[in-house]
Amino acid sequence: QLDVPLLTAWLGRAAAAIEAQQGYLSDLDAAIGDGDHGANLARGFKAVMAKLGTPADPAALFRSVGMTLIGTVGGASGPLYGTLFVEMAKAAAGRATLDAAGWHGVLAAGVAGVVARGKAAPGDKTMIDALTPAVAALEAAASLPEALARSAAAAREGAEATAPLVARKGRASYLGERAIGHVDPGATSSAMLLAALAEAAG
Ligand code: ADP
Ligand code: MG
Ligand code: MG
Repeated sequence: QLDVPLLTAWLGRAAAAIEAQQGYLSDLDAAIGDGDHGANLARGFKAVMAKLGTPADPAALFRSVGMTLIGTVGGASGPLYGTLFVEMAKAAAGRATLDAAGWHGVLAAGVAGVVARGKAAPGDKTMIDALTPAVAALEAAASLPEALARSAAAAREGAEATAPLVARKGRASYLGERAIGHVDPGATSSAMLLAALAEAAG
């Protein structure tokens, strides 16, 4: 079951992973964007940990994360990651814990919020290419740790599969065919976040 202590452990792992991979994420963004994705997210997750405190329930935790990301990350990804967590908060309202089915519903609602805001479809070479398969992999949920491990693997595969694509959203879309051969930074950071969750729960 995902509860506040486990979700807090997730965010701690996510913040550490983003910090450690910050240079890599910015290098990916330098190839097809403006080179700030790692710095944007590292700043955001540092603030998330500083402001988190002890939330009353998962919804309060997700809401705190979302508001902090909206306020600190900037760029295209800040409002999108912020929306992800704010919509997850709405879907988690009133629940003390989330089992595999509960997490499926919550993540699906968050990703639907990102799609509504950013208007990206699968195949547009964005974070949606990692997040959509991550949600789909939760449908065949067994135990929670197994579901999260499958979801994280699907996100990583989805991120890797962005390499041959032309981007249709975000800065990378200005490059046309020159974006081919480069993995999308936002899809990569999404996969990192879900890997951190699988590790925290496993
Ligand atoms: P910026 O491009 O403003 O510098 P970032 O570098 O922080 O912002 O984030 C870039 C990432 O944002 C991209 O790699 C992509 O995954 C994601 N992104 C950009 N536009 C969209 C969109 N409309 N929908 C979903 N994701 C998007
Ligand atoms: Mg950028
Ligand atoms: Mg930027």
